[in-house]
Formats: sequence, structure tokens, C-alpha cells
Amino acid sequence: MKQNIPFNADPMGAAIYDYYNTGSADALVVHSSMFEDDEIPVDALFRDFEQMPDLEKAALELSSGRILDVGAGAGCHSLALEKMGKCSVAIDISDLAVQVMNERGVDARKIDFYDESFTETFDTVLLLMNGTGIIGTLDNIPAFFCRLRSLLNPGGRVLIDSSDLRYLFEEEDGSLMIDLADDYYGQLDYQMEYKDVLGEPFDWLYLDFESLAFYAEENGFKAELLVEGEHYDYLASLYIQQ
Ligand code: SAH
Repeated sequence: MKQNIPFNADPMGAAIYDYYNTGSADALVVHSSMFEDDEIPVDALFRDFEQMPDLEKAALELSSGRILDVGAGAGCHSLALEKMGKCSVAIDISDLAVQVMNERGVDARKIDFYDESFTETFDTVLLLMNGTGIIGTLDNIPAFFCRLRSLLNPGGRVLIDSSDLRYLFEEEDGSLMIDLADDYYGQLDYQMEYKDVLGEPFDWLYLDFESLAFYAEENGFKAELLVEGEHYDYLASLYIQQ
């Protein structure tokens, strides 16, 4: 008998759960007040090392020691790390994603990145697939760096990716159509929908590298640009400034 899917307000988890258990999933739709509806291809959340973009491959190769995979989703990075003989802990706020990761053999726990009662420390903290998203809004930047500071072992580093969304506002002549009175152009509101499950709206931040480096410095971190992708995307490392 097919198990009842414990739907709650967790569309991403429900999509991951469906794909894992049936081999296919419906559209995982992303709504935003700023753009047309978009879709996250659910099978891409199950990508293996070979299917990953170069900057994710680089992040996995650079990961060392005890690794924390933040917002791990279906666990693709943790599984790839395990194949490389590396040891990671995966955290996610989605119950169903954590359940699927555990079934896939990942050491996954339902923990919010911002939960201060999680006091373990790591040599590498991975934030991948637009890792700056978890910052939410620019106001939250100090809290983000504060959490990173407590999660890192001495000498440890964060590997994080994002994209510069300027291309969405670029005119043909290269000038930018950005209203300076508006919020930062990478600050988006998202809401996900899967089948009949509509999630809570949430803020998701895309941060260009220069801004990331600026805020890192303000919060006692140093940012280094490691890899530039093909479409305004990049991988950076963050470490505590001595
Ligand atoms: N890293 C995965 C999944 C990215 S999707 C991949 O590359 O495939 C982003 C994930 O972050 C989702 O699974 C979401 O549930 C999780 N997430 C969002 N906010 C979080 C938070 N505050 N703490 C932990 N996980 C979070």
C-alpha cells in the first residue's frame, strides 16, 4: 500500500519525498512578486557529482575535515562527499527532506541554521545552490555571520555560492535599470507550491560577490572569490579575519 504523504506546509520536502519514493515528481513551482512563476526541476535536487556545475564540484573538492552541509535538500552534496571519503553532517528545516536524506544514508538532522542551541563546530561549512539565500534580507547579515562564527572551528572556512542578479536588470547597452530607492536588487520574496501544498512566503537573498565581500569585512570575515561560473554565478570562501 502506498504510504500517505504527510503533507504540511513543506512543498520542497513533499517534492523531494515524492521523487525519492516514486522516481518522479510534479512541478515544484516558485512564485515571486518580482518575476513570473518559475519551476525547480526536482530531479536536479538529486544530481550526482558528475551532474553538478563546476563551482559545486570545486566546493566539494575543497571541503575538508568535519563538514556541515547547510540546507542540504535531498542530500546530493553530502552523498557526493561520502563517495570522496569525506565526512559531513547535513541540516535542513524540512522534515521530509531530512527523512529522505536519512533513508539515503546521510547523517541528516532537522535543524535551522539560525538555531543557537546547535553548538557543534566544523572545519568546512557548505552553503550551496545559492547559499546566500538563507540570509534572507540584508538586515539579517550580522546574524548570519554571527552564526558562522560559532559554527566554525579555528582555521575553518565557509564555501558559499550565489549569483549576481544584475543581468535581470541590464539594458542592451550594459546600463542597469535599478531603482536605487528600492531594496537591494538581489533581495527576493519567494513562495513555493507543490501539488496542493503551498509553503509560507520567505525572503531569499542573491548577493553579488562585491557586496558579500563588503559585508564579510564589516562582520570580521574575509571573502575570497574562488570560482566564477558561466552566468554571473560564483563560489566564494569566507573565513574569520585574524
Ligand atoms: N543544498 C541543496 C538544496 C538547496 S534548496 C542542493 O543544492 O540541492 C535550499 C534548502 O535549504 C531547502 O531544502 C530548504 O528547506 C533549506 N533551508 C532553508 N532555510 C533553512 C534554514 N534556515 N536552515 C536550514 N535549512 C534551510
